[in-house]
Amino acid sequence: MDVIFASGNAGKVSEMQQLLAPVGLQLKSLKDFGLSGAEETATTFVENALIKARAAAHSAQLPAIADDSGLVVRALNGEPGVYSARYAGEDGNDAANNTKLLAQLSNQEDRRAYFFCCLVFLQHPNDPTPKIAFGRWHGEILQQPQGDGGFGYDPLFYVADQRITAAEMNSTLKNQLSHRGQACQALLTQLQNQI
Ligand code: IMP
Repeated sequence: MDVIFASGNAGKVSEMQQLLAPVGLQLKSLKDFGLSGAEETATTFVENALIKARAAAHSAQLPAIADDSGLVVRALNGEPGVYSARYAGEDGNDAANNTKLLAQLSNQEDRRAYFFCCLVFLQHPNDPTPKIAFGRWHGEILQQPQGDGGFGYDPLFYVADQRITAAEMNSTLKNQLSHRGQACQALLTQLQNQI
């Protein structure tokens, strides 16, 4: 079955394609249809993922999958949350976002945080029973960046049981542990049981 994945990120599309091949889904990207992503106007990950999936299903007239993810910091009441990509401004600059996060947490002893990912699958734009899957990856925000890999907040995200940051992990390990990896596995289980 053809499905549109509501992302412009080619890496994410191919990662999802590998994962969903066993349930017979062929992923198309927004680019395949000349579409751009819907605006993320909501205040929760699940609402934003639904907005993106619904818009893609409507435009492509196909079943759709969308994701939304970000960093949730306990001492900041959940910030940057759904604003993770644009925390320091609409331009979405990783270095500026990390600098702002460190400033917001200066003098803060509670450094607990988690990455969160929501994935949704809609059979069609008006599907009343979306499949919704979540992943949550716990860590701590360091005082300064450590490691060169990954993207976004990875250099500040320390994973205690691995004794390294997400930016120091190889992609295989990160995919096994991460919020996105967990949400993908959870969605796969739902699709295997229900398609
Ligand atoms: P997206 O919804 O996956 O595009 O992620 C939104 C933003 O959340 C990204 O621009 C990053 O700032 C942050 N983010 C999401 N996942 C990760 C991750 O695995 N590592 C670091 N930052 C992430």
